[in-house]
Amino acid sequence: MIRFDSVAKRYPPGIDALAEISFQVEPGELVIVSGHSGAGKSTLLKLIAAIETPTAGTVLVNGQNVGALRSSAIPYLRRNLGLVFQDQKLLFDRNAFENVMLPLAIAGFAPKEAARRVRAALDKVGLLAREKAMPIALSGGEQQRLAIARAVVGRPSLLLADEPTAYLDPETARTVADIFIDFYRVGVTVLLATYDEALFLPRGARRLGLDHGRMTS
Ligand code: ADP
Ligand code: ADP
Repeated sequence: MIRFDSVAKRYPPGIDALAEISFQVEPGELVIVSGHSGAGKSTLLKLIAAIETPTAGTVLVNGQNVGALRSSAIPYLRRNLGLVFQDQKLLFDRNAFENVMLPLAIAGFAPKEAARRVRAALDKVGLLAREKAMPIALSGGEQQRLAIARAVVGRPSLLLADEPTAYLDPETARTVADIFIDFYRVGVTVLLATYDEALFLPRGARRLGLDHGRMTS
């Protein structure tokens, strides 16, 4: 599903964020990317989502060379990706339901089918009763769950998350981790950057370690 071959990423003016990265992720795997702050975890996820392009090497997602995609092809790649990234903020002037509806509205779903899917996604993350709530009225853990619902409402086969349990208390972090594990259990490929290895490793995750932009495992 994902394959990196000798991938490097250098940011201007010459910061080597990643070097000589090669690995493969099979469909249905749960993989955690771990490493210190600045190790290159976010960059690795951004290369998969075509938010950044590699400086060297190839990144294949579902057989597509995502580093070489024309910009017109990127929306099609993203349609099959669920992203839970720090910079994909919730819209604070829309309620929970409307936030999750947005990707389906953009994709042109019929309103009735879209509403059904939105409620199914809210139900999956335990927020069905909060569909009318504005994000500001939700706790940090609930906001993170809402971001997950928005990421999965299009039923992506690949779910990418960057530090999804950061800034949450341990109990809330576990609740959020459980949601990713539930998606893994129904066959979704899940790749996430995290410091909370203990939430995932005992539950079937494979670890991909990064240290200063290089793989350690
Ligand atoms: P992590 O997610 O493990 O904290 P990142 O992928 O965010 O690591 O960053 C890896 C390295 O690349 C760091 O040295 C960071 O400062 C640098 N970096 C990340 N994004 C950019 C950018 N847009 N421009 C320049 N340097 C960047
Ligand atoms: P169906 O009615 O066919 O079961 P739904 O649209 O009701 O489908 O979706 C069920 C739930 O499964 C949704 O909440 C969605 O978030 C979640 N989901 C997302 N991606 C996947 C996936 N790849 N496989 C299974 N379930 C997924």
